[in-house]
Amino acid sequence: MTANIAAARQALSHLEIDDNPVSIRAKSRDFFWYSPVLKARLDHLTADFVVAPKTEAEVIEVLRTCYAHDVPVTVRGAGTGNYGQAMPLAGGCVLHLKHLTKVREIHPGRVICEPGALLKDIDAACQAQGQELRMFSSTWATATIGGFIAGGSGGIGSCTWGQLRDLGNILRLRVVTMEEEPRVLEFRGAELARVSHAYGTNGVITEVEMPLAPAYDWVGLFLAVPDFDTAARLSMDIANEDGILIKLSSVFECPTAQDYFPRVAPYMREGEHLVALMVAPHAMDAFEVFARRYDGARLIYRSDAATWDRDPGPVFEYGWNHTTLRALKVDPSITYLQVLYPGDGFAKIAKMREMFPGEVLQHLEVIRDHGTCIFASLSLVKFTTEERLEEIVRLHEAHDCLVFNPHRYTLEEGGRQHRDEVQLAFKREADPKGLLNPGKMISWDHPDFDYQGIWHYPGMKAAE
Ligand SMILES: Cc1cc2nc3c(=O)[nH]c(=O)nc-3n(C[C@H](O)[C@H](O)[C@H](O)COP(=O)(O)OP(=O)(O)OC[C@H]3O[C@@H](n4cnc5c(N)ncnc54)[C@H](O)[C@@H]3O)c2cc1C
Repeated sequence: MTANIAAARQALSHLEIDDNPVSIRAKSRDFFWYSPVLKARLDHLTADFVVAPKTEAEVIEVLRTCYAHDVPVTVRGAGTGNYGQAMPLAGGCVLHLKHLTKVREIHPGRVICEPGALLKDIDAACQAQGQELRMFSSTWATATIGGFIAGGSGGIGSCTWGQLRDLGNILRLRVVTMEEEPRVLEFRGAELARVSHAYGTNGVITEVEMPLAPAYDWVGLFLAVPDFDTAARLSMDIANEDGILIKLSSVFECPTAQDYFPRVAPYMREGEHLVALMVAPHAMDAFEVFARRYDGARLIYRSDAATWDRDPGPVFEYGWNHTTLRALKVDPSITYLQVLYPGDGFAKIAKMREMFPGEVLQHLEVIRDHGTCIFASLSLVKFTTEERLEEIVRLHEAHDCLVFNPHRYTLEEGGRQHRDEVQLAFKREADPKGLLNPGKMISWDHPDFDYQGIWHYPGMKAAE
């Protein structure tokens, strides 16, 4: 199968097409470079052209045309994903959804919008009616809802609501297939698992319906805590405090704040760890009672009574993968891991701290998992070599710490390392030529892959 790029491009020339090599390259990239492993392998990749449809009918036309000419299609929201999710491994067409931004309907408890709507714009529209998204990525200001559903996992709000994959956190998706004559399908309930977190490998989401929660003017807080275990305990306990409503509970091991958060650092003492919280304003009296239980914990910042010379910005932009971003700005040798700790996490976290002193810094995020609070970690890693990074991953796994490896570009390797039969079955049906985001689903290309070492997509465009 050879792609006829010129024919597809010509057939789509009445649509908004970008074929300026500089901007095509920019629109072919995401935040893959947080990983030195992916940076070494994906940096050269670029699509052949970018098309930005204005309607669902134009999306259908692009998919029909590219199907006819065997041209790969990689969907792009805002390109803030990690894992190289939005990078066109085989070149071809980038389908940029920047024009599909309408927030169509807001009802009590739910919003209906187009996939290219930014998370912040959806929240702004909903807040006018006293509602907000249950959860959002820390890239709230720049990321799209379609990209969050197809590539993200959860984020601010996950300490209360769980993750995107949990039942009820996505209500409905409208999806276009890539066939000779594309179909438009509506998914709810169990069907949502076909395309959510599938990196756009088996359909293009053209409308989403998401659940909402009551909106609050959240109070962002920073606490400095002398002892790491106390910091972790505090962050977990507040998430379990049934009457205190929170939207974020993060812990940053010393010296993360001292070294990488320049606006916070002047307020930190040597050896202190940082806790970041978002608490509903009506819960602040209760929070003050709660915080007194933790020896030495100092409240150094509250956004509703800010006294700092330099505004630190939204507290959530210190959490989730913004921690890595801030560390990278100071030390380009930093990379990260995404870890899920088993059980209540405390023993394993202590073990990992003991095993990698000075090399792996804990950055914990409390998330709710089927009614129980657990720790996820986006640990900061001082990168030395690929071999050592692989060893660190293996040692985590050997201690039952589940790693969602951000140094891999496939769904399976960045996930639970096994094929997802539901997504694969839907890809067979919806993308029979395998043209949607090729190379991201191993089970499509190499069903018997054993997950020993990194998988190399044989169809990857070579560096020129
Ligand atoms: C600093 C930083 C912080 C981050 N924090 C978080 C976080 O808190 N939580 C989190 O989950 N992620 C986080 N991420 C990852 C990423 O920002 C989010 O997942 C974000 O929501 C992706 O949205 P996007 O519009 O940028 O998607 P893109 O990067 O454009 O796309 C992501 C994936 O979805 C596919 N896709 C996009 N739109 C569609 C569509 N309409 N139909 C089908 N497939 C589609 C793309 O092909 C790609 O595979 C972070 C990344 C960075 C760099």
